[in-house]
Amino acid sequence: MQDYDMLIGGNWAASAGKQWVESVNPFTAKAWARVPRGTVADVDRAVSAAKHAFVSKEWSGMTASARGLLLFRLADLIAKHAEEIAKVETTDNGKLINEMAGQLRYIPQWFRYFGGLADKLEGRVIPIDKPGVLNFTRYEPLGVVVAITPWNSPLMLATWKLAPLLAAGNTVVWKPSEHSSVSALILGKLFKEAGFPDGVVNIVTGFGNEIGERLVTHPDVAKVAFTGGDQTGQHVYEQAARGIKHVTLELGGKSANIVFDDASMDDAIKGVISGIFAASGQTCIAGSRALIHRPIYNEFVGKLVEFAKTAKMGDPLSTETQVGPVTTPQQYKKVLEYIQIAKDEGAKCVLGGGPAKRPELGDGWFVEPTIFSEVDPKMRIAQEEVFGPVLSIIPFDTEEQAIEIANGTIFGLAAGVWTKSMRRALVMSEKLQAGTVWVNTYMAVSYLSPFGGYKRSGIGRESGIESIREYLQTKSIWIDVSESTPNPFVMR
Ligand code: NDP
Repeated sequence: MQDYDMLIGGNWAASAGKQWVESVNPFTAKAWARVPRGTVADVDRAVSAAKHAFVSKEWSGMTASARGLLLFRLADLIAKHAEEIAKVETTDNGKLINEMAGQLRYIPQWFRYFGGLADKLEGRVIPIDKPGVLNFTRYEPLGVVVAITPWNSPLMLATWKLAPLLAAGNTVVWKPSEHSSVSALILGKLFKEAGFPDGVVNIVTGFGNEIGERLVTHPDVAKVAFTGGDQTGQHVYEQAARGIKHVTLELGGKSANIVFDDASMDDAIKGVISGIFAASGQTCIAGSRALIHRPIYNEFVGKLVEFAKTAKMGDPLSTETQVGPVTTPQQYKKVLEYIQIAKDEGAKCVLGGGPAKRPELGDGWFVEPTIFSEVDPKMRIAQEEVFGPVLSIIPFDTEEQAIEIANGTIFGLAAGVWTKSMRRALVMSEKLQAGTVWVNTYMAVSYLSPFGGYKRSGIGRESGIESIREYLQTKSIWIDVSESTPNPFVMR
């Protein structure tokens, strides 16, 4: 068992309550590390450190170019430690080492991209409609940002917040998920090594229901950047509203992968499989609904099931494994409950449909890759986010019907379209209510392209050039350069 401390004001700190949270390996179901169970007093210390750092000479007096260089340095350190951090993440959340290592190798690009952007945040000189006045704008940081992140892609989802917010000149108090805090604390060491001034990055661990409210409502916090489930997101949004705080929310999804009869069937099958089973369905962009064009429906479902049967379950640290366990016992229970709900509602289970218990799977929380066919779009299994390896297949006849079904949930995070027709690709991309639409591919993300949700999938965008605006406010500056003082009783 290894113990890790929190990072507050540049110091490694135990919890003020002197208690710990155990981090459990989802493959062995055994605790392997402990992180401090942070308290409200710890949150207050961290916010105070972030507030002081925000106005400190070391940070506020640093040029934007120098801030960018710090982010480059951090990127190099992450690249150097990528393999080791990826192993920690897999041990913490049970997701495949192939996926976590891929993410860790890619994460430095976000820090480099936003590091490069730091000194390009140029305001505008506005040709104002009044004589004798110079008007221009500046972008300024907001202040202390609270970042709250989930367990499924711990550092990747945090990076989408940390890189732009730091490039913009803010400071941060970050609370990772209680199930996956170790990689955050390792990253904390790298922030120190890179040379970030004390207090610019603070990491508080613990339970969201114990310290979340204080984080979100603290009077010295200017903004909350949250990724997690939509129910928690709504709660955070309501609480932040009490303090009129800036908020971005990256929430859940029920994304549709839509396959037309003119698509390459082999490619579409791979896209549908990777969309749902690759991360055991534990990704916000999981393609948890497959909408299949009626003329190819039977053939597609038959081939899809045969392909899915070949998925190799096992130790997520093995590079041979294709489907790992789900992350927590609560999640395991929730996924199995949804499978039962689908059966009770009359969906036809054509693959899996229960827990996976085999000697090679040890005590891990494994659920069989599960496919339901003939799903009615109104069933709960087709409406609610399961966050597990469960796919609902729904037939459709026309483009209009596919759009109506795809858009017919409260969510709008992503969608996939499989077709060889350029017209169809464009029409569908335009009409789908989703922040991301992939055509003939699925699950691609980049630091260069904005990501975020429509409807209940969220507010705001992460990645891409415009995402830095989520961490800035615009100031309009007026300078009177006229020679005579204007009439004070008339508005200029
Ligand atoms: P949760 O919503 O349960 O938790 C997210 C974070 O919020 C955790 O750090 C959690 O802490 C914290 N939290 C919990 N309660 C509160 C509270 N009252 N106040 C403030 N913070 C709180 O999500 P999960 O961790 O279960 O992650 C899975 C969810 O995340 C899925 O719904 C998924 O779709 C979504 N997600 C969205 C993405 C997107 O970009 N749109 C990307 C990835 C995931 P603790 O762990 O201690 O409870």
